[in-house]
Amino acid sequence: MEQTKCLIIGSGPAGFTAAIYASRANLHPIVIEGPAPGGQLLQTTEVENFPGYPQGVTGNQLIEDCRNQALRFEADIRPGYVTKVDTSNRPFVVTLDNGSSIKAETIIVATGATARYLGLPDETKYQGLGVSACATCDGFFYRNRNVAVVGGGDTACEEALYLAGLAKKVFLIVRKPFLRASKIMQQRALNHPKIEVLFNTNTEGLFGDEYLEGAHLVEHRGTPDERHFDIAIDGFFLAIGHKPCSDFFEGALLTDEAGFIKTNAPSTATNIPGIFAAGDVADPAYQQAIVAAASGCRAAIDAEHFILQNA
Ligand code: NDP
Repeated sequence: MEQTKCLIIGSGPAGFTAAIYASRANLHPIVIEGPAPGGQLLQTTEVENFPGYPQGVTGNQLIEDCRNQALRFEADIRPGYVTKVDTSNRPFVVTLDNGSSIKAETIIVATGATARYLGLPDETKYQGLGVSACATCDGFFYRNRNVAVVGGGDTACEEALYLAGLAKKVFLIVRKPFLRASKIMQQRALNHPKIEVLFNTNTEGLFGDEYLEGAHLVEHRGTPDERHFDIAIDGFFLAIGHKPCSDFFEGALLTDEAGFIKTNAPSTATNIPGIFAAGDVADPAYQQAIVAAASGCRAAIDAEHFILQNA
């Protein structure tokens, strides 16, 4: 069976940064790109907050640049995805979707997270045309426009406040009669003159010719007070949580309640010696490309040290 010193799972900024560092440390890493090569950055349009690109860069270009940099140092990047990891012995046995297996002395899990969506067909229709799950990435395009944020947690309040600094008006669509966010975030959102909180409200659909123009909402759904109404918006931001992509470990790696892999900070070590986690799959707090890239660097250095200590 083929064997590698370092197997990297995932091809976002964390995976490719880990690949650059691991390659330069002569670990000859194999990178398994995963079911959505490039990760979440490919869903954004312009990235304006990644240092080194003063004019901004598209998500596609940023990922292609990271990939090319990893290739330059001869990282072995392969399509496909991991279906199973046998963590009972080291080297670990990693099974891929094509049925082949690779033995790995160390594994860097950089599989990312996917934003949760409501599941409305209109979300797909207007993706990139008004629908977004990242205010920090896309908010800038909605300067002086009306937007809505869905969710009642800290992320939703944070996104609403961020957007309120740019947009003309922000609707915060909350399905319950209260916010779940921390008190201070609640107060900030509730007191902001540009934010209108719509409690007890759900989204039924979106509308617009080419770009998003509005949302169909329902208040007090399923009660005698049920009321249907529309709001005019150019941007619809989902902030109802993220789902980390860690299922294929089938519970072997310790995670928090939401499924984010726990690491032994400041190291990227997981509960299984030799397995490291980097990027959004282990980051419930920041979820930014630059943070993911930095943790990919840390994971590669951690893997290199682990190999030296266990040689
Ligand atoms: P949360 O799980 O805390 O909140 C998700 C929100 O989305 C809830 O209000 C929930 O409603 C709502 N929601 C879920 N599904 C739907 C749906 N289908 N339709 C409508 N609304 C829905 O996720 P967050 O991403 O906000 O936060 C994750 C973690 O990160 C939390 O622990 C949070 O505290 C932390 N965080 C901290 C920050 C900070 O401290 N600055 C910033 C951002 C996050 P309901 O309440 O009805 O379930």
